[in-house]
Amino acid sequence: MSNERRSVALLGATGSVGRQTLDVLRAHRAQFDLVAVAGGERIDLLAEIVKEFDVPVVGVKSERHRRELAGVLGSGPEIVSGAQGLSELSQSADVVVNAVVGFAGLPVTLGALGAGRRLALANKESLVAAAPLVAAVRETPGAELLPVDSEHCAIHQCLSGVRPSIGYPDVRRLILTASGGPFLRWSAEQLKSATREDALSHPTWSMGDKITVDSSTLMNKGLEVLEATALFGVGVERVDVVIHPQSVVHSMVELLDGSVIAQMSRPDMRLPISYCLGLPERLTLNWGDLDFSGLTLEFDLPDGDRFPALGLAYAAARRAGAAPAWLSAANEVAVAAFLADQIAWSDVVPVVASVMDHYDDEPVDSVESLLASDAAARKWARASLKR
Ligand code: NAD
Ligand code: MG
Repeated sequence: MSNERRSVALLGATGSVGRQTLDVLRAHRAQFDLVAVAGGERIDLLAEIVKEFDVPVVGVKSERHRRELAGVLGSGPEIVSGAQGLSELSQSADVVVNAVVGFAGLPVTLGALGAGRRLALANKESLVAAAPLVAAVRETPGAELLPVDSEHCAIHQCLSGVRPSIGYPDVRRLILTASGGPFLRWSAEQLKSATREDALSHPTWSMGDKITVDSSTLMNKGLEVLEATALFGVGVERVDVVIHPQSVVHSMVELLDGSVIAQMSRPDMRLPISYCLGLPERLTLNWGDLDFSGLTLEFDLPDGDRFPALGLAYAAARRAGAAPAWLSAANEVAVAAFLADQIAWSDVVPVVASVMDHYDDEPVDSVESLLASDAAARKWARASLKR
Protein backbone atom coordinates (compact mmCIF):
# COMPACT_ATOMS: atom_id res chain seq x y z
CA MET A 1 0.00 0.00 0.00
CA SER A 2 1.09 3.58 -0.49
CA ASN A 3 3.08 5.43 2.19
CA GLU A 4 0.05 7.31 3.44
CA ARG A 5 -1.16 5.84 6.74
CA ARG A 6 -4.88 5.47 7.29
CA SER A 7 -6.55 5.95 10.66
CA VAL A 8 -9.12 3.31 11.59
CA ALA A 9 -11.97 3.36 14.11
CA LEU A 10 -13.22 -0.12 15.00
CA LEU A 11 -16.61 -0.23 16.69
CA GLY A 12 -17.59 -3.68 17.92
CA ALA A 13 -13.90 -4.53 18.40
CA THR A 14 -14.45 -7.44 20.80
CA GLY A 15 -16.78 -9.42 18.51
CA SER A 16 -16.14 -11.89 15.72
CA VAL A 17 -15.71 -9.33 12.91
CA GLY A 18 -13.93 -6.97 15.33
CA ARG A 19 -11.30 -9.53 16.33
CA GLN A 20 -10.75 -10.54 12.71
CA THR A 21 -10.26 -6.87 11.84
CA LEU A 22 -7.58 -6.70 14.56
CA ASP A 23 -5.85 -9.68 12.88
CA VAL A 24 -5.68 -7.73 9.61
CA LEU A 25 -4.41 -4.61 11.40
CA ARG A 26 -1.72 -6.64 13.23
CA ALA A 27 -0.46 -7.91 9.88
CA HIS A 28 -0.38 -4.37 8.42
CA ARG A 29 0.81 -2.16 11.24
CA ALA A 30 2.81 0.04 8.86
CA GLN A 31 -0.32 1.11 6.97
CA PHE A 32 -2.94 1.65 9.66
CA ASP A 33 -3.34 3.44 13.01
CA LEU A 34 -6.14 2.23 15.25
CA VAL A 35 -7.40 5.52 16.71
CA ALA A 36 -10.69 4.47 18.34
CA VAL A 37 -12.36 1.25 19.48
CA ALA A 38 -15.69 0.40 21.12
CA GLY A 39 -17.30 -2.68 22.57
CA GLY A 40 -20.47 -3.64 24.37
CA GLU A 41 -19.49 -6.35 26.84
CA ARG A 42 -16.15 -8.09 27.57
CA ILE A 43 -14.44 -5.13 29.24
CA ASP A 44 -11.27 -7.17 29.92
CA LEU A 45 -10.81 -7.92 26.24
CA LEU A 46 -11.50 -4.30 25.34
CA ALA A 47 -8.80 -3.22 27.80
CA GLU A 48 -6.31 -5.67 26.26
CA ILE A 49 -7.01 -4.28 22.79
CA VAL A 50 -6.54 -0.70 24.01
CA LYS A 51 -3.18 -1.59 25.53
CA GLU A 52 -1.94 -3.64 22.59
CA PHE A 53 -2.74 -0.97 19.99
CA ASP A 54 -2.24 2.03 22.28
CA VAL A 55 -5.70 3.34 21.35
CA PRO A 56 -6.38 6.91 22.55
CA VAL A 57 -10.24 6.81 22.72
CA VAL A 58 -12.58 3.99 23.72
CA GLY A 59 -16.36 3.65 23.62
CA VAL A 60 -18.46 1.47 25.92
CA LYS A 61 -22.16 0.76 26.19
CA SER A 62 -23.03 2.52 29.46
CA GLU A 63 -21.77 4.51 32.44
CA ARG A 64 -21.41 1.29 34.41
CA HIS A 65 -19.09 -0.15 31.71
CA ARG A 66 -17.21 3.15 31.65
CA ARG A 67 -16.41 2.93 35.34
CA GLU A 68 -15.45 -0.74 34.97
CA LEU A 69 -13.04 -0.02 32.10
CA ALA A 70 -11.57 3.03 33.86
CA GLY A 71 -10.91 0.76 36.83
CA VAL A 72 -8.91 -1.65 34.64
CA LEU A 73 -7.05 0.97 32.57
CA GLY A 74 -6.41 3.63 35.22
CA SER A 75 -5.54 7.07 33.86
CA GLY A 76 -5.24 5.87 30.27
CA PRO A 77 -7.32 6.72 27.25
CA GLU A 78 -10.42 8.86 27.07
CA ILE A 79 -13.60 6.79 27.57
CA VAL A 80 -16.96 7.72 26.04
CA SER A 81 -20.24 5.84 26.43
CA GLY A 82 -23.60 5.07 24.87
CA ALA A 83 -24.97 5.84 21.43
CA GLN A 84 -23.60 9.39 21.62
CA GLY A 85 -20.11 8.00 22.23
CA LEU A 86 -20.40 5.61 19.28
CA SER A 87 -21.51 8.48 17.08
CA GLU A 88 -18.52 10.63 18.11
CA LEU A 89 -16.01 7.84 17.52
CA SER A 90 -17.50 7.16 14.07
CA GLN A 91 -16.51 10.60 12.92
CA SER A 92 -12.90 10.34 14.03
CA ALA A 93 -11.07 8.21 11.43
CA ASP A 94 -10.39 7.74 7.71
CA VAL A 95 -11.98 4.30 7.79
CA VAL A 96 -14.74 3.37 10.23
CA VAL A 97 -15.43 -0.35 10.66
CA ASN A 98 -18.96 -0.96 11.93
CA ALA A 99 -18.73 -4.39 13.55
CA VAL A 100 -21.43 -3.76 16.17
CA VAL A 101 -24.28 -6.29 16.11
CA GLY A 102 -27.91 -5.26 15.65
CA PHE A 103 -29.77 -1.96 15.51
CA ALA A 104 -27.31 -0.60 18.13
CA GLY A 105 -24.93 -0.04 15.18
CA LEU A 106 -27.12 2.75 13.75
CA PRO A 107 -25.14 5.71 15.23
CA VAL A 108 -21.96 4.33 13.64
CA THR A 109 -23.43 4.02 10.15
CA LEU A 110 -25.05 7.46 10.19
CA GLY A 111 -22.11 9.08 12.05
CA ALA A 112 -19.40 7.84 9.69
CA LEU A 113 -21.21 8.65 6.45
CA GLY A 114 -22.50 11.97 7.79
CA ALA A 115 -18.90 12.96 8.56
CA GLY A 116 -17.76 12.04 5.03
CA ARG A 117 -15.78 8.97 6.10
CA ARG A 118 -15.28 5.58 4.51
CA LEU A 119 -17.65 3.17 6.25
CA ALA A 120 -16.63 -0.51 6.17
CA LEU A 121 -20.01 -1.95 7.03
CA ALA A 122 -20.48 -5.35 8.66
CA ASN A 123 -23.53 -4.20 10.65
CA LYS A 124 -26.22 -4.97 8.07
CA GLU A 125 -29.08 -4.33 10.52
CA SER A 126 -28.51 -0.55 10.50
CA LEU A 127 -28.55 -0.37 6.71
CA VAL A 128 -31.61 -2.60 6.42
CA ALA A 129 -33.59 -0.55 8.95
CA ALA A 130 -32.41 2.91 7.92
CA ALA A 131 -31.98 2.55 4.15
CA PRO A 132 -33.65 5.90 3.25
CA LEU A 133 -31.61 7.78 5.90
CA VAL A 134 -28.39 6.07 4.80
CA ALA A 135 -29.10 7.00 1.17
CA ALA A 136 -29.25 10.65 2.24
CA VAL A 137 -26.04 10.74 4.33
CA ARG A 138 -24.21 8.76 1.66
CA GLU A 139 -24.36 11.95 -0.44
CA THR A 140 -22.04 13.72 2.03
CA PRO A 141 -18.80 14.71 0.25
CA GLY A 142 -16.13 12.08 0.97
CA ALA A 143 -18.62 9.50 2.28
CA GLU A 144 -18.04 6.01 0.95
CA LEU A 145 -19.95 2.84 1.85
CA LEU A 146 -18.05 -0.44 1.40
CA PRO A 147 -19.59 -3.77 2.38
CA VAL A 148 -17.73 -6.14 4.73
CA ASP A 149 -20.53 -8.71 4.44
CA SER A 150 -18.85 -11.33 2.25
CA GLU A 151 -21.68 -11.63 -0.30
CA HIS A 152 -21.95 -7.88 -0.85
CA CYS A 153 -18.19 -7.48 -0.90
CA ALA A 154 -18.17 -10.14 -3.63
CA ILE A 155 -20.80 -8.25 -5.62
CA HIS A 156 -18.86 -5.02 -5.15
CA GLN A 157 -15.85 -6.75 -6.70
CA CYS A 158 -17.91 -8.33 -9.53
CA LEU A 159 -19.41 -4.92 -10.37
CA SER A 160 -15.96 -3.40 -10.90
CA GLY A 161 -16.14 -4.88 -14.40
CA VAL A 162 -19.60 -3.51 -15.12
CA ARG A 163 -20.65 -0.12 -16.54
CA PRO A 164 -21.15 1.94 -13.38
CA SER A 165 -24.37 3.77 -14.34
CA ILE A 166 -26.97 4.37 -11.62
CA GLY A 167 -29.05 1.23 -11.08
CA TYR A 168 -26.58 -0.88 -13.11
CA PRO A 169 -28.62 -1.16 -16.35
CA ASP A 170 -26.31 -3.92 -17.70
CA VAL A 171 -27.07 -6.16 -14.72
CA ARG A 172 -29.96 -8.62 -14.98
CA ARG A 173 -29.70 -9.75 -11.37
CA LEU A 174 -27.51 -9.95 -8.32
CA ILE A 175 -27.20 -13.54 -7.08
CA LEU A 176 -26.45 -13.92 -3.38
CA THR A 177 -25.07 -17.27 -2.30
CA ALA A 178 -26.14 -18.88 0.98
CA SER A 179 -24.46 -21.83 2.68
CA GLY A 180 -27.91 -22.97 3.79
CA GLY A 181 -26.74 -23.13 7.41
CA PRO A 182 -26.76 -26.16 9.70
CA PHE A 183 -30.35 -27.16 8.82
CA LEU A 184 -29.99 -27.24 5.04
CA ARG A 185 -30.89 -30.93 4.83
CA TRP A 186 -33.20 -31.20 7.86
CA SER A 187 -36.82 -32.17 7.21
CA ALA A 188 -39.70 -29.97 8.41
CA GLU A 189 -40.35 -32.61 11.09
CA GLN A 190 -36.72 -32.56 12.32
CA LEU A 191 -36.71 -28.75 12.41
CA LYS A 192 -39.39 -28.83 15.13
CA SER A 193 -36.84 -30.22 17.58
CA ALA A 194 -33.82 -28.08 16.54
CA THR A 195 -31.90 -26.92 19.64
CA ARG A 196 -29.79 -23.90 20.50
CA GLU A 197 -26.67 -26.01 20.11
CA ASP A 198 -27.79 -27.27 16.66
CA ALA A 199 -28.48 -23.71 15.52
CA LEU A 200 -25.10 -22.47 16.72
CA SER A 201 -23.09 -25.07 14.75
CA HIS A 202 -22.54 -23.34 11.43
CA PRO A 203 -20.95 -25.60 8.79
CA THR A 204 -18.63 -23.08 7.10
CA TRP A 205 -18.37 -19.81 9.08
CA SER A 206 -17.50 -19.05 12.71
CA MET A 207 -19.47 -15.92 13.71
CA GLY A 208 -21.26 -14.19 16.59
CA ASP A 209 -24.35 -15.91 18.03
CA LYS A 210 -26.98 -13.59 16.54
CA ILE A 211 -25.85 -13.93 12.92
CA THR A 212 -25.27 -17.66 13.39
CA VAL A 213 -28.90 -18.11 14.43
CA ASP A 214 -29.96 -15.83 11.54
CA SER A 215 -28.03 -18.12 9.20
CA SER A 216 -29.89 -21.16 10.53
CA THR A 217 -33.31 -19.61 9.79
CA LEU A 218 -32.10 -17.98 6.51
CA MET A 219 -33.20 -14.64 8.00
CA ASN A 220 -29.57 -13.64 7.51
CA LYS A 221 -30.01 -14.13 3.77
CA GLY A 222 -33.30 -12.24 3.93
CA LEU A 223 -31.55 -9.30 5.61
CA GLU A 224 -28.84 -9.58 2.97
CA VAL A 225 -31.41 -9.29 0.16
CA LEU A 226 -32.55 -6.02 1.76
CA GLU A 227 -28.92 -4.99 2.27
CA ALA A 228 -28.18 -5.59 -1.42
CA THR A 229 -31.08 -3.43 -2.62
CA ALA A 230 -29.92 -0.58 -0.37
CA LEU A 231 -26.22 -0.87 -1.22
CA PHE A 232 -26.47 -1.21 -4.99
CA GLY A 233 -29.72 0.62 -5.69
CA VAL A 234 -31.40 -2.26 -7.54
CA GLY A 235 -35.01 -3.35 -7.04
CA VAL A 236 -35.65 -6.50 -5.03
CA GLU A 237 -36.99 -8.24 -8.15
CA ARG A 238 -33.38 -8.21 -9.41
CA VAL A 239 -31.93 -9.90 -6.30
CA ASP A 240 -31.94 -13.71 -6.10
CA VAL A 241 -30.59 -16.25 -3.64
CA VAL A 242 -28.96 -19.59 -4.45
CA ILE A 243 -27.81 -22.23 -1.99
CA HIS A 244 -24.10 -23.03 -2.21
CA PRO A 245 -23.03 -25.21 0.73
CA GLN A 246 -19.24 -24.81 0.27
CA SER A 247 -19.19 -20.99 0.75
CA VAL A 248 -16.46 -20.60 -1.86
CA VAL A 249 -18.41 -18.56 -4.43
CA HIS A 250 -19.35 -15.56 -2.28
CA SER A 251 -21.90 -14.11 -4.72
CA MET A 252 -22.44 -13.39 -8.41
CA VAL A 253 -23.66 -10.81 -10.88
CA GLU A 254 -25.59 -11.88 -14.00
CA LEU A 255 -25.46 -9.51 -16.96
CA LEU A 256 -27.98 -8.89 -19.76
CA ASP A 257 -26.13 -11.25 -22.12
CA GLY A 258 -26.35 -14.13 -19.61
CA SER A 259 -22.73 -13.85 -18.54
CA VAL A 260 -22.25 -14.55 -14.82
CA ILE A 261 -19.35 -13.00 -12.89
CA ALA A 262 -18.48 -14.66 -9.57
CA GLN A 263 -15.98 -13.95 -6.78
CA MET A 264 -14.35 -16.89 -4.99
CA SER A 265 -12.08 -17.41 -2.02
CA ARG A 266 -11.77 -19.49 1.11
CA PRO A 267 -14.52 -18.52 3.56
CA ASP A 268 -12.55 -16.09 5.74
CA MET A 269 -13.97 -12.71 6.82
CA ARG A 270 -10.47 -11.25 6.95
CA LEU A 271 -10.58 -11.05 3.13
CA PRO A 272 -13.60 -8.75 2.80
CA ILE A 273 -12.37 -6.76 5.82
CA SER A 274 -8.98 -6.17 4.20
CA TYR A 275 -10.68 -5.26 0.91
CA CYS A 276 -12.59 -2.48 2.68
CA LEU A 277 -9.51 -1.25 4.53
CA GLY A 278 -7.18 -1.27 1.54
CA LEU A 279 -9.25 -0.25 -1.48
CA PRO A 280 -8.17 0.77 -4.12
CA GLU A 281 -5.12 -1.30 -3.22
CA ARG A 282 -5.13 -4.95 -2.19
CA LEU A 283 -3.48 -5.92 1.08
CA THR A 284 -1.27 -9.01 1.00
CA LEU A 285 -2.79 -11.73 3.22
CA ASN A 286 -0.84 -14.89 3.98
CA TRP A 287 -3.50 -17.03 5.63
CA GLY A 288 -3.81 -19.64 2.90
CA ASP A 289 -5.13 -19.90 -0.65
CA LEU A 290 -8.13 -21.60 -2.15
CA ASP A 291 -7.33 -25.30 -2.48
CA PHE A 292 -8.60 -26.60 -5.85
CA SER A 293 -7.63 -30.24 -5.35
CA GLY A 294 -10.89 -32.18 -5.41
CA LEU A 295 -12.87 -28.96 -4.94
CA THR A 296 -16.57 -29.44 -5.70
CA LEU A 297 -18.98 -26.53 -5.97
CA GLU A 298 -22.70 -27.26 -5.63
CA PHE A 299 -25.64 -24.94 -6.21
CA ASP A 300 -29.36 -25.31 -5.60
CA LEU A 301 -32.42 -23.17 -4.99
CA PRO A 302 -33.63 -22.33 -1.45
CA ASP A 303 -36.68 -24.05 0.00
CA GLY A 304 -39.12 -21.31 0.96
CA ASP A 305 -41.46 -23.74 2.74
CA ARG A 306 -38.93 -24.90 5.33
CA PHE A 307 -37.33 -21.43 5.51
CA PRO A 308 -40.11 -18.82 5.37
CA ALA A 309 -37.81 -16.02 6.60
CA LEU A 310 -36.67 -15.40 3.04
CA GLY A 311 -40.25 -14.76 1.88
CA LEU A 312 -40.83 -12.38 4.78
CA ALA A 313 -37.78 -10.37 3.75
CA TYR A 314 -38.89 -10.13 0.11
CA ALA A 315 -42.34 -9.02 1.28
CA ALA A 316 -40.77 -6.36 3.53
CA ALA A 317 -38.63 -5.15 0.63
CA ARG A 318 -41.71 -4.73 -1.56
CA ARG A 319 -43.57 -2.84 1.17
CA ALA A 320 -40.51 -0.62 1.78
CA GLY A 321 -40.94 2.25 4.29
CA ALA A 322 -40.34 0.96 7.80
CA ALA A 323 -41.22 -2.67 6.94
CA PRO A 324 -37.54 -3.74 6.80
CA ALA A 325 -36.92 -1.97 10.14
CA TRP A 326 -39.87 -3.86 11.66
CA LEU A 327 -38.63 -7.16 10.28
CA SER A 328 -35.13 -6.67 11.63
CA ALA A 329 -36.27 -5.41 15.05
CA ALA A 330 -38.76 -8.26 15.50
CA ASN A 331 -36.06 -10.72 14.50
CA GLU A 332 -33.61 -9.28 17.05
CA VAL A 333 -36.14 -9.77 19.83
CA ALA A 334 -37.05 -13.30 18.69
CA VAL A 335 -33.41 -14.39 18.31
CA ALA A 336 -32.49 -12.98 21.73
CA ALA A 337 -35.41 -14.92 23.25
CA PHE A 338 -34.28 -18.09 21.49
CA LEU A 339 -30.69 -17.63 22.70
CA ALA A 340 -32.06 -17.14 26.24
CA ASP A 341 -33.97 -20.46 25.93
CA GLN A 342 -37.33 -18.67 26.13
CA ILE A 343 -38.66 -19.92 22.78
CA ALA A 344 -37.93 -22.83 20.44
CA TRP A 345 -35.98 -22.45 17.20
CA SER A 346 -39.19 -23.21 15.29
CA ASP A 347 -40.88 -20.21 16.98
CA VAL A 348 -38.33 -17.59 15.88
CA VAL A 349 -39.62 -16.87 12.37
CA PRO A 350 -43.33 -17.24 13.32
CA VAL A 351 -42.77 -14.50 15.95
CA VAL A 352 -41.38 -12.23 13.22
CA ALA A 353 -44.27 -13.11 10.89
CA SER A 354 -46.83 -12.28 13.59
CA VAL A 355 -45.20 -8.88 14.17
CA MET A 356 -45.33 -8.09 10.45
CA ASP A 357 -49.12 -8.68 10.54
CA HIS A 358 -49.35 -5.51 12.66
CA TYR A 359 -47.28 -3.37 10.30
CA ASP A 360 -49.27 -0.58 8.75
CA ASP A 361 -47.21 1.49 6.32
CA GLU A 362 -44.88 3.96 8.04
CA PRO A 363 -42.21 6.07 6.36
CA VAL A 364 -38.58 6.25 7.54
CA ASP A 365 -38.08 9.98 7.20
CA SER A 366 -36.07 10.83 10.31
CA VAL A 367 -34.05 9.13 13.01
CA GLU A 368 -36.93 9.83 15.40
CA SER A 369 -39.51 8.09 13.19
CA LEU A 370 -37.14 5.14 12.74
CA LEU A 371 -36.62 4.82 16.51
CA ALA A 372 -40.41 4.86 16.95
CA SER A 373 -40.87 2.13 14.30
CA ASP A 374 -38.14 0.04 15.90
CA ALA A 375 -39.76 0.39 19.33
CA ALA A 376 -43.23 -0.49 17.99
CA ALA A 377 -41.97 -3.68 16.32
CA ARG A 378 -40.11 -4.71 19.49
CA LYS A 379 -43.27 -4.15 21.55
CA TRP A 380 -45.31 -6.46 19.27
CA ALA A 381 -42.50 -9.01 19.30
CA ARG A 382 -42.39 -9.10 23.11
CA ALA A 383 -46.17 -9.47 23.19
CA SER A 384 -45.93 -12.35 20.73
CA LEU A 385 -43.28 -14.07 22.91
CA LYS A 386 -45.71 -14.15 25.82
CA ARG A 387 -48.33 -16.06 23.82
P1 NAD B 1 -20.52 -10.35 17.75
O1 NAD B 1 -21.70 -10.59 18.62
O2 NAD B 1 -19.43 -11.35 17.73
O3 NAD B 1 -19.88 -8.92 18.07
C1 NAD B 1 -20.66 -7.77 18.24
C2 NAD B 1 -19.82 -6.63 18.75
O4 NAD B 1 -20.68 -5.50 18.96
C3 NAD B 1 -19.14 -6.92 20.09
O5 NAD B 1 -17.88 -6.29 20.10
C4 NAD B 1 -20.08 -6.22 21.08
O6 NAD B 1 -19.43 -5.90 22.28
C5 NAD B 1 -20.44 -4.99 20.28
N1 NAD B 1 -21.64 -4.28 20.73
C6 NAD B 1 -22.90 -4.77 20.85
N2 NAD B 1 -23.71 -3.80 21.30
C7 NAD B 1 -22.95 -2.68 21.45
C8 NAD B 1 -23.21 -1.35 21.89
N3 NAD B 1 -24.44 -0.98 22.26
N4 NAD B 1 -22.18 -0.48 21.92
C9 NAD B 1 -20.94 -0.86 21.54
N5 NAD B 1 -20.64 -2.09 21.12
C10 NAD B 1 -21.63 -2.99 21.07
O7 NAD B 1 -21.12 -10.15 16.26
P2 NAD B 1 -20.39 -10.41 14.86
O8 NAD B 1 -20.64 -11.80 14.44
O9 NAD B 1 -19.00 -9.89 14.88
O10 NAD B 1 -21.27 -9.51 13.91
C11 NAD B 1 -21.20 -8.09 13.90
C12 NAD B 1 -22.00 -7.58 12.73
O11 NAD B 1 -21.38 -8.02 11.52
C13 NAD B 1 -23.44 -8.09 12.68
O12 NAD B 1 -24.27 -7.10 12.17
C14 NAD B 1 -23.38 -9.24 11.69
O13 NAD B 1 -24.60 -9.45 11.02
C15 NAD B 1 -22.30 -8.75 10.73
N6 NAD B 1 -21.57 -9.81 10.03
C16 NAD B 1 -20.83 -10.69 10.75
C17 NAD B 1 -20.11 -11.69 10.09
C18 NAD B 1 -19.23 -12.66 10.86
O14 NAD B 1 -18.52 -13.45 10.24
N7 NAD B 1 -19.23 -12.66 12.19
C19 NAD B 1 -20.19 -11.80 8.70
C20 NAD B 1 -20.96 -10.87 8.00
C21 NAD B 1 -21.64 -9.87 8.68
MG1 MG C 1 -23.04 -12.57 4.69
